[in-house]
Amino acid sequence: MAVEAAPQSRGASIEIEHLDKYFGAVRAVDDVSLSIAAGEFIALLGPSGSGKSTILMSLAGFERPTGGRILIDGQDCTYLPPYKRNIGMVFQHYTLFPHLSVMDNVAFPLKMRGISKAERRRQAEAALETVRLAGYGQRMPKQLSGGQQQRVALARAIVYRPRVLLMDEPLSALDKNLREEMQLEIKRLHSELGLTVVFVTHDQSEALTMADRIAILKSGRLQQVSPARELYERPSNLFTASFIGEMN
Ligand code: ADP
Ligand code: MG
Repeated sequence: MAVEAAPQSRGASIEIEHLDKYFGAVRAVDDVSLSIAAGEFIALLGPSGSGKSTILMSLAGFERPTGGRILIDGQDCTYLPPYKRNIGMVFQHYTLFPHLSVMDNVAFPLKMRGISKAERRRQAEAALETVRLAGYGQRMPKQLSGGQQQRVALARAIVYRPRVLLMDEPLSALDKNLREEMQLEIKRLHSELGLTVVFVTHDQSEALTMADRIAILKSGRLQQVSPARELYERPSNLFTASFIGEMN
């Protein structure tokens, strides 16, 4: 049994309006506006330091924007704490609790939300099944491969059926074969659960393979937002053209 499609598991729309974030004098995000449709899979693509993580952390509620607004399904969430946003997040380096079993790792967000033990177990098992790790609940994280650990992190991110899944370079620590397998896994999850996915990467080909649309960033500024194919065929400026061209 996979995680059931509950009404709240369908994707939410996201509006980013004139988002600004300063760290001291550093303008990490510079007047970024972006509309993301419910259920869309969008990639934020750009070189290191271009503001991708800061945008994602602002969406998740871990960074407080200096200016602008974030609306999720029309609701102003700009200053809402993370746990009130109905968002799941996966980071680059597996952030599993090493002293907790796989089951307890996955059930952790449910515990934070005061859900009963039996129900936590049921939902965690369903989430593990969704990422194809049924039966792994009693293992410890260190007994799993890197790819399996990242799938546990994914199960933990979807266990309370968020409407938005944010991923910050979730595959860049994995070797090539595992990365390709996980790319397919994430695409499958996206269509199965109908989530809105915002996927951060600095890997051009990963963005082109996975996303419906790609938003290109440079120095905190949005350069172009286009369907993958269009970006490749009609880059709107020299930066986009050379950044995409680096793949070849
Ligand atoms: P990316 O994820 O695209 O690599 P980041 O969003 O991490 O970029 O960083 C954007 C800019 O903001 C960089 O110049 C980075 O050094 C700076 N920055 C990010 N987080 C902090 C922080 N907590 N304190 C100070 N500067 C930061
Ligand atoms: Mg980053």
